[in-house]
Amino acid sequence: MTTDTQIAQSEALIIVDMSNDFVHDDGGLTAGKPAQEIVPFIVTQADEMLKNGGNVIIAMDAHLPDDSHFEEWPPHNVIGTWGQKLYGALGEWYEKHEHHERVIYVPKPQYDAFYNTNLEQILEELGVKRVKLTGVCTDICVYLTTAGAYYRGLKTQVLANGCATFTENHESALKQMELCFHTEIA
Ligand code: ZN
Repeated sequence: MTTDTQIAQSEALIIVDMSNDFVHDDGGLTAGKPAQEIVPFIVTQADEMLKNGGNVIIAMDAHLPDDSHFEEWPPHNVIGTWGQKLYGALGEWYEKHEHHERVIYVPKPQYDAFYNTNLEQILEELGVKRVKLTGVCTDICVYLTTAGAYYRGLKTQVLANGCATFTENHESALKQMELCFHTEIA
C-alpha cells in the first residue's frame, strides 16, 4: 500500500519567480495584484508539502545586469538585488525554512527552470516523480517549466489558484498545458 507520505516524498512543489520584481507594486516586471493575491495560497501549499514529507523548490530568475534577456524585457531579477528577493510572506517563509534539507533554491537563467540548471538532477536524487507548479507567470515561466518537466518524464500538476500573470493568457495557458503536457489543472 502506498501511504500519503510516500506519495508526498515523490512530489515537489515548484514555486516559480515569486520575487519582488515580479510581484511587488514597485517591481520591474510585475504581475501586481493577481500575483500578490496568490501568496497566502502558495505559503499554505509549501507548509503542507513539507509537513507531508515532500520537497519545495524555489525556482528564481537570476540575471546579470547586462543580460541579453533585457533586450526583450524590462530589467528584473538582477542577482543580489531587492528585486530578486522572494516577495512578502514567501520571503519570510523562505527565511524560516531555507536550511531545511527539502527546501531547495534553484537560480535559473531562462524561463524554463530546467534550462541550464541542475533541477533535473536535484529532482532525480530526491526521487521526485511529480511536480506541482505555482508562481508567475502562468503563460511564460510556469508554462515553460511545466514543458521542461514534461520532457523529462515527470508528471505535472499546475495549481491554478497558485498562478498569475501580467498578460490575459492565464486561462488559455492552463488549457494549453492540459492539452500538450497532460498537465492536471488543480
Ligand atoms: Zn527573466
